[in-house]
Amino acid sequence: MTKSYVIKPELGKEYPVISHGKGIYLYDKEGNRYIDGSSGAVTASIGHGVEEVAEAMYAQAKEVSFVYRSHFSSDAVEKLATKLAEWAPGSLNWTFFVSSGSEATETAQKIAIQYWQEKGRPTKNRIISRWMSYHGITMGALSMSGHVLRRKRFTSLLADYPAITGPYPYRKPEDMSLESYALACANELETAILRVGPEQVAAFIAEPVIGASGGAVVPPDGYFQRIREICDKYEVLFIADEVMTGVGRTGKAFGIDHWGVVPDLMTLGKGMSAGYTPMAATIVSDEIIETITKGSGSIMAGHTYSANPQSAAVSLAVLDYVEKHQLVEKAAEQGAYLLAQLKELADELPLIGEARGLGMLCALEFVKNKQTKEPFALSGGVGGKVIQKAFEKGLLIYPAMGGIEGVAGDAVIISPPLTITTEQIDELISLLKEAVIAVQQELQ
Ligand code: PLP
Repeated sequence: MTKSYVIKPELGKEYPVISHGKGIYLYDKEGNRYIDGSSGAVTASIGHGVEEVAEAMYAQAKEVSFVYRSHFSSDAVEKLATKLAEWAPGSLNWTFFVSSGSEATETAQKIAIQYWQEKGRPTKNRIISRWMSYHGITMGALSMSGHVLRRKRFTSLLADYPAITGPYPYRKPEDMSLESYALACANELETAILRVGPEQVAAFIAEPVIGASGGAVVPPDGYFQRIREICDKYEVLFIADEVMTGVGRTGKAFGIDHWGVVPDLMTLGKGMSAGYTPMAATIVSDEIIETITKGSGSIMAGHTYSANPQSAAVSLAVLDYVEKHQLVEKAAEQGAYLLAQLKELADELPLIGEARGLGMLCALEFVKNKQTKEPFALSGGVGGKVIQKAFEKGLLIYPAMGGIEGVAGDAVIISPPLTITTEQIDELISLLKEAVIAVQQELQ
């Protein structure tokens, strides 16, 4: 191989070079085949090599690929925003387009702060988040994130935002019912708001299902309903970070739809363009847009590639594909089958403490001791070992190990394309089982 000058996640390591992908499979130049059991980073939700998307990409490129958003709009972005307004709940009708999930959450943060400025309440400028959370890698997004591994080099530079514990049913106090646990976790938000003072708090941000920092941690029913009540009571905006959960991944259009709660702002990324091009969005309510329109009249955010017509055309083709093939419904059905298979693995293998998930966003959490649920040291990287073994066997899965040492577990995410068939799930499970058994044996 010729010398590579690409900065890769692990410097000095050689990565296989991919040649092409089709459906749930990726193929490298050496002829190895991989099942994309995590849709990359929970992104390639319609699978690889979809012709319709390639055609939409070409058609848009022939017309125009780039216009600057301060000069022009385009048919593609107008149509995409209209479609998102149809998909999104309540009065979440207005979309600000960006290119990554981090930009989307950071834009949400800024819009929330600006909203209160325009209302004449500029001290409402802090964002409360949860320790078990990941909202992005840029400094603003990282300030709202709990992901310890990604924060720790930069902690002293991050905004001093309050954080609360999120619900983590696997590790709830045993003598507490799920219902009381849901309320106790949500009520922590009230305590945090009162401690800081409601006049200091702009918004609360949460992932409907916790992704990278916990591994498909699903909140108990009642949690988000109570969060909404608290936000309303103290005039705090609720931002649902749907970067991982949005566009069908959990078996509903958006993760938060499982609890019938309508946020004030919502962020999308990943599955919004299913990896065919960088594309993400911050969707906001009528109330927010009306307030800013009457006030300064412009949102202080944006990037060169915001509202890029080429990316919008691709995202539109992806959403059309999701609708045409009923992938939201499929994610619910096939996701239930996937989770049932993962639960069987968890029953069988001592290394797995819990299998959990919602729709096609599932995870396995590994533990030292199944009875006591004692977690592994995060530095021990048991999840990483399973990921490596799976990779060697031709299966891709995704790490969820950013939690708090000794508190959160070591998990991996299993989130294949929403198009996966039952037979392909069986194939995935059998490779995953081999990988977990291999690591289990190594640890003995
Ligand atoms: N928000 C959530 C919930 C995510 O899972 C991620 C990425 O994993 C992000 C934000 C950041 O997205 P990106 O990596 O596209 O910047």
